[in-house]
Order: sequence, then structure tokens, then C-alpha cells
Amino acid sequence: MLNDQQTAQLKQVLVDAERRVLQSAQSALELTREGPTDGGRDSIDQSNSEELVSTALRLRDREQKLLTKIREALGRLAEGVIDECEMCGGPIVFRRLLVRPVTTLCIDCKERSEEDERRAPPTENLPTGGADAAEDWPES
Ligand SMILES: [Zn+2]
Repeated sequence: MLNDQQTAQLKQVLVDAERRVLQSAQSALELTREGPTDGGRDSIDQSNSEELVSTALRLRDREQKLLTKIREALGRLAEGVIDECEMCGGPIVFRRLLVRPVTTLCIDCKERSEEDERRAPPTENLPTGGADAAEDWPES
């Protein structure tokens, strides 16, 4: 079980991550808005730009998935089960949760599932988790 301080810390990480995802969606929106600025924007391209905005509002797939995971993790956190492994029911160590709060597997189960993945033929090149691996959270 996590103590109050750990719970609060994890919540902060998740809320920050959620905000980051939303902000990146927001900046995509602003880029679209700026568009090619060639003088006066009149009513002719008004409907066109509204369409662009609504397109940009829709989060990209990856962001949407991440957002779902973050919200699920917040739900598990609220229920007090965020540190319970989905596969074996064992504890997920806090340090692991802090790095990857959207995980639902303990390190043992994660390694086992990665071994299974390695045995299977590679489907695509997964992004290598760099220094900022938190950006690439989506995992099984
Ligand atoms: Zn496990």
C-alpha cells in the first residue's frame, strides 16, 4: 500500500502528465490557428479555419491513448489499487510507479510480457525510451 505522501506524489505526476498532453494538443491547435498569415482574414476563409480548428482539437491517437491511460491511472489511484499488479496481484514498487505511473504490471510480469513480445516477430519499431521516456508511456 502507498502512504499518503506517495499517493499525493503520484497524483501530482499524473496530473502534470495530463496537463502536458493537453498542452501539446493545445499548441497543435494554435499552430493551426496561426496558419499562413497573408494579411486580412476575412469571412471567406472563416468557415475553413473553423474546420481546421476542430480537426486540431481532436487529439492525435497517441495522445488520446495516453490521456486514457493517465485517467485510468488516476482512477486506480483513487481506488487505492494503483500499486497492485494486474496480472499477479502483487505489489508494484513505488519507484516504478513514479517513473511510469500508467503501468499496471509489476516489474516481474512486465519483464515476462516483454520476453513474450521479444519471441514474437517484431511488428514495428518501438520508440526507444530516452532520457524523457515518460513521453513514451504507452505500454501494455
Ligand atoms: Zn505481477
